[in-house]
Amino acid sequence: MGSTAKAIVTGFICRLCSEQKKVVIHLYTERARKLDLLNKVKLMPISLKKYDNLPKTICEQCIQRLEDQVKLLEKVKKNHEIQRRHRLYHSNGQCPVQCPLHNVNWP
Ligand SMILES: [Zn+2]
Ligand SMILES: [Zn+2]
Repeated sequence: MGSTAKAIVTGFICRLCSEQKKVVIHLYTERARKLDLLNKVKLMPISLKKYDNLPKTICEQCIQRLEDQVKLLEKVKKNHEIQRRHRLYHSNGQCPVQCPLHNVNWP
């Protein structure tokens, strides 16, 4: 049977990808706190509670994915603000050169 190899895989299940990984970080540890992991996981469409009987470990790959996600969210937020400001104050042709949207084609 081909299941023997699978049975000897040991590790922890990742809360986000459900894969068994040897290297994971537990969400309620000092290391996770330093990485602000708990708040980053909360950006995902899952509910996470300390005593919800679901895995509290996440793998390194998912941590990287979370970091990318956080970066994307920050970028979108920042650009939304730039666009909003440009729209509010600059669309009357008074857009200053310092504005990141100066001379950008605005539909
Ligand atoms: Zn994972
Ligand atoms: Zn502008």
